Amino acid sequence: MEAKEILDRLALWRDAQKRSTWKPIVEEGDGGADTSKFSGIPSLAENEPYPRCGTCQALMPLFLQLNLNQLPEELLGRFGSGLLQMFYCTDCDSYLPLENTKLVRLVQPLAGSQSLQGENYPSFPAKTIVGWTQLDDYPSPEEHNELGLIFDYDFSANTVRIECPLVGLVTEDLAMDSAPEAEEVATALPGDKLAGYPGWIQGIEYPECPQCNRRMELVFQIDSEDNLPYMFGDVGCGHITQCPEHKEILTFGRACS
Ligand SMILES: [Zn+2]
Ligand SMILES: [Zn+2]
Repeated sequence: MEAKEILDRLALWRDAQKRSTWKPIVEEGDGGADTSKFSGIPSLAENEPYPRCGTCQALMPLFLQLNLNQLPEELLGRFGSGLLQMFYCTDCDSYLPLENTKLVRLVQPLAGSQSLQGENYPSFPAKTIVGWTQLDDYPSPEEHNELGLIFDYDFSANTVRIECPLVGLVTEDLAMDSAPEAEEVATALPGDKLAGYPGWIQGIEYPECPQCNRRMELVFQIDSEDNLPYMFGDVGCGHITQCPEHKEILTFGRACS
């Protein structure tokens, strides 16, 4: 079977996995306390101290604030309501989720919230999110197996066997260089994006909710040096995830090579 024919047969599987994702449209500058934005000054409650790293006590820059009440209509209510904020300690730069070197939380915008002066707080040049571009997204190869597309590699023989029960496909052992690559079938969009599929680098790394052990789901992917001039480890890709049951349980982890 030719690579092209295999890809054609697998289009049905690919379509079945399709999700929407939304890429932010940004303008330079901090649009204000309750806006969706990259970095800038977070909305904080009156008298609330600026968030510090739980490990090294450094002030943590705001990486992302999303006003969940102003998301694309399809996503309203999915992640809760109010503001979702992510602070990240750039001194510790820890890849592990569920640690105190990052703070990801939901807060309700308060009428009496402080108007902080920017110069005393760490921040990248702020970008305000003024809109979203909706795109189709697909799972990265690391997720194919559990979604029913198996690439069974035999590296000593240099062959691969492809199996996809949904479309009734089982190939014989194919020479690797004449078989399609899993990434050609489907992969996740890189860059900053809201919802969709996470781009993994080493394997699936969804955290589990510490309360109910459910797999946490992608809220937002923050990639190295897209809207924020920051590189996670060695060109890592970060993910804000949330328990589907406990909306207040949020965290951030990053995959790196
Ligand atoms: Zn720290
Ligand atoms: Zn949970």
